[in-house]
Amino acid sequence: MIKIPIHVLNAGWTNFDGVEPASFLEVGDTETMRFPAEVKYALKVQLVNNGVLVEGRVSTWIRAQCGRCLVEFEREIVNDGVCHFYEDPPQDVLDISEDIREDLLLAIPGNPLCDENCRGLCPDCGANLNEKECGCRGRSTNSGIWKDLDDLKFEK
Ligand SMILES: [Zn+2]
Ligand SMILES: [Zn+2]
Repeated sequence: MIKIPIHVLNAGWTNFDGVEPASFLEVGDTETMRFPAEVKYALKVQLVNNGVLVEGRVSTWIRAQCGRCLVEFEREIVNDGVCHFYEDPPQDVLDISEDIREDLLLAIPGNPLCDENCRGLCPDCGANLNEKECGCRGRSTNSGIWKDLDDLKFEK
């Protein structure tokens, strides 16, 4: 839980840093994505008029399987655009867990790729094209399912 004690705040920025266990995200590990690290936050907080302004950065790491080449990789997930304003906050503590959790979840890709330019697997032989040229693509420009469809036509 990320709870800000209101009494320590003033009209200038107060740094508010810490870590939470990965369970803070409330998303379980799946076959294609795990959360091996803790959640780190580095926030700054200040009183503004009758509210509390929170800005900063939240991050963690994912261990995921690439959607194209199926290789596992680890990557830091960062949202450094955290920005929330809480009007009429409670007198004692302000719980911002929910918003910070969402900020971080938004930064996690739905279809994680090991690299934006990942070349994936060859549809013909299954070779990881990031590692080697298998040669299939030179032999047939109509590869994979389209080639199968062409072959079907010829059989008629
Ligand atoms: Zn990949
Ligand atoms: Zn191939």
